[in-house]
Amino acid sequence: MTEVTVTACVSFGSNIGDRYATLAGAYTAFCAHPQIEPLAPSRLFETAPVGGPGGQGRFLNTVLKISSSLSPHDLLARCMAVEQDFQRERKIRWDARTLDLDILLYGDQIIATADLEVPHPRMHQRRFVLVPLADVAADMTHPILHESIADLLARLPVEPGDVYPIADTWT
Ligand code: ADP
Ligand code: MG
Repeated sequence: MTEVTVTACVSFGSNIGDRYATLAGAYTAFCAHPQIEPLAPSRLFETAPVGGPGGQGRFLNTVLKISSSLSPHDLLARCMAVEQDFQRERKIRWDARTLDLDILLYGDQIIATADLEVPHPRMHQRRFVLVPLADVAADMTHPILHESIADLLARLPVEPGDVYPIADTWT
């Protein structure tokens, strides 16, 4: 039987502790799953925190494009398991986090369940998501807005220093 695989995009973010070691460790752990094949990592960016309590440190953000035969919910479970491995504590929404893994796109599917919304509901408003996503999936179409990632990004106003590339290759 042929396995059905889907192209999906997952964002990785960290703003506490050794952010680089966390992202590198999370990338390795995430890709160790036999049903996750990495296709392309974006560049690594440092980004200004958006929303949430004040006084947070800057984030490191990256997006990974994968091919996977996991269902959307199994992919979410994988994201949460890796977050747990890096001891993320959920106390205050949008507070600083050692590691945040979000499913941005899962092929062209629209998923709206209590624990999983894809496309990620705020991704089209966030440069710290769209800039790395455009590195690896500029031509993918947002299945609700029917626009490419590149076009969504072109619409967002730039604030100097909000999303700053710090490494072209990092994995
Ligand atoms: P955020 O990522 O919005 O800053 P959290 O990571 O704290 O907030 O949110 C965690 C919850 O978001 C998870 O328990 C998960 O069930 C839910 N969730 C809904 N849609 C997604 C998605 N596309 N990717 C990851 N988590 C999601
Ligand atoms: Mg999250």
